[in-house]
Amino acid sequence: MIYVHVPFCRSFCTYCGFYSEKTSDCTESGFIRALCSETGRRKDEICVSGGPDTLYIGGGTPSVLPLSALEAVVEAIGMAGGRWQDEFTVEVNPEDIVEKGPEYARGLLQLGVSRVSMGVQSLDDRVLRWMNRRHDAASARKAYGILREAGFRNISVDLISGISFLDDDTWLSTIDEVLSGMGTGTAPEHISAYQLSVEPDSALAGMVESGHYSEAPDDRCERQYYILCRRLAEAGYHHYEISNFALPGREAVHNSAYWHHLPYVGLGPAAHSLSVSPAGTGNGVIYRRSWNSPSLADYLSASSSGDFSSIRGGETLTAEQVMLERIMLSLRTDSGIGEQAVRNFCRPDAVDAALASGALVRCPGPAAFNLRIPEDRFFISDNIIGELV
Ligand code: SF4
Repeated sequence: MIYVHVPFCRSFCTYCGFYSEKTSDCTESGFIRALCSETGRRKDEICVSGGPDTLYIGGGTPSVLPLSALEAVVEAIGMAGGRWQDEFTVEVNPEDIVEKGPEYARGLLQLGVSRVSMGVQSLDDRVLRWMNRRHDAASARKAYGILREAGFRNISVDLISGISFLDDDTWLSTIDEVLSGMGTGTAPEHISAYQLSVEPDSALAGMVESGHYSEAPDDRCERQYYILCRRLAEAGYHHYEISNFALPGREAVHNSAYWHHLPYVGLGPAAHSLSVSPAGTGNGVIYRRSWNSPSLADYLSASSSGDFSSIRGGETLTAEQVMLERIMLSLRTDSGIGEQAVRNFCRPDAVDAALASGALVRCPGPAAFNLRIPEDRFFISDNIIGELV
């Protein structure tokens, strides 16, 4: 599994706390050279990255890059032994797809991209303007049509709920229009829907601090979450992770592997990696997390000096950290995690109390029973997990 972080955005969204920079064509080409260089230097990790064979180019906004830049990255990853036959996803911004047109969409397909993830967020222009998104609802519809027309058969659409001025009817009409295929008649194969959260360092955090924005009340967020769950269930989607819904068989391979704690290699500024290696003695394995500095300047200078290790941090995870992460990630999914693993790690009385109250339920697992949070408690999953661990 390989993740590539493209740290560029043409403008910054109100709510975003991801690392990215506004940039020029010149820094973009320097970045691509550096990315190809890092890819070559980490080919030993790429060859044995483990997990499914997936490539995910995210950001930032990968679709600000021209096709030639993406081609260079894909070629470098292929030469380093990377494989992506199980899934190749690129995140796209609707405005880029509209600006660059059908040729760009067809070029992505020719490059081997099998899935695009498009940040639509809303189909209400007032909401999109407030979010400082580059696109409006008309562009989102047009971009979706271009992708379908070009031949994409696996499209994921991102949406955001829980904004203080977003009423239920507006939210429902966005959902329904997405399900109607935004003018194409073909619903997206996958929908990721997030509740607006106030990320540190985002413009939104400043607005909250200065009193220019108040978060939506919990009861409204919960209502909008379950409006979504109900509507997507009626439309045949599998609710396989708290924020993710897929038509059967279209669950995201790459992201699912993260939730199952499988290893991956992250390339580019701010990208994280997880490696899993035999411990050498005993039965255990060693989990190691590492990351690149979240700075394009550092990344470019590491590339010039040929020493990417100078910008990499890392830590070996303790067995306790591994188990904690595994429980927290797995309980976000509808398959959950083995009951015995939860009982070994969590306070037994907390597990029993959660089962008695219906906060956890048993479901068939690979060997014995798994425990999972039922869908009607997904909204309060953080509290449930907090009580357990
Ligand atoms: S949400 Fe996406 S497009 Fe907006 S600033 Fe963040 S990374 Fe860039």
